[in-house]
Amino acid sequence: CENPDCENNCLMSVAKRNYLTCHNCYTYYCCKECRKHDWTTHKNDCYVTRVSNMCKNIIKTVNKDSHILYYVSRFARRGYLHRGRGCIVLNFENISTAQKLLQEGLRHSTISPMYMTVAEIDRVKLFGDVKSGLTEMCSNYNPDNKFILYAGIGCGSHIYYDNIAPPRTSETSIAKCAALRLSPAHSIPNLDELDDISVLVLAASQGFEKTGNAEKRKSREMGLINIQRKLQKRGVTLRYQYPEMYYKLINFVSDSKPFSPELLFPMDSHTGQRFTCIIL
Ligand SMILES: [Zn+2]
Ligand SMILES: [Zn+2]
Repeated sequence: CENPDCENNCLMSVAKRNYLTCHNCYTYYCCKECRKHDWTTHKNDCYVTRVSNMCKNIIKTVNKDSHILYYVSRFARRGYLHRGRGCIVLNFENISTAQKLLQEGLRHSTISPMYMTVAEIDRVKLFGDVKSGLTEMCSNYNPDNKFILYAGIGCGSHIYYDNIAPPRTSETSIAKCAALRLSPAHSIPNLDELDDISVLVLAASQGFEKTGNAEKRKSREMGLINIQRKLQKRGVTLRYQYPEMYYKLINFVSDSKPFSPELLFPMDSHTGQRFTCIIL
């Protein structure tokens, strides 16, 4: 029995028949109590448990970090609009690659998401025992405000389990999946909410007609400052929550690149209410 406080002992062949194992690997215990007792220590040694906790961590990180969430949401939204229902796949070669990335902080340059449709998920071997759950999630989420994220870490036969018990799963990767809310910039409020939504109209240029280039630029700058200030009052930071829009306006200010009217559906963080923002 692997519980250090327990003296029970037997041949491996007997243990295989009569003992319990860890849920995730072939570590043997004489009884449930011993398994429970050893868990606080074993969970840090158990490879599969560590890998699956790391998958959960990856999902949590994507959900918490507004930059990563923005990037992954855009990917998910485009994937859905072009190819239909599916999920974002984040695959890491092994536990050390995943660990390294998590420690450094996930960035778009270091992750390479894939968009896979329901049909593709069915055809590919990769998904193993999470396949049916994943397929169900992909068939049921609301693509206007959610996306499905799959995080998997390789644990195939190329890993040598010296000193640790081998995993009980025969899958070549361990994974978790979750339905996450799209970043505010990519989610579309549902139509019922739209009825009593307030509208904020903002001008990209505080423009005056027939003025020189310097004045035009000045009035665009004023416009951008005003937009940021008005949105900030409602708890919305244009630069972080709508970076694409922010850079579009920056280009409009600095290079006088044409600006066509845009629609946003931000959430007022003070009231929790969504509103429509039109930038003209
Ligand atoms: Zn274990
Ligand atoms: Zn025991």
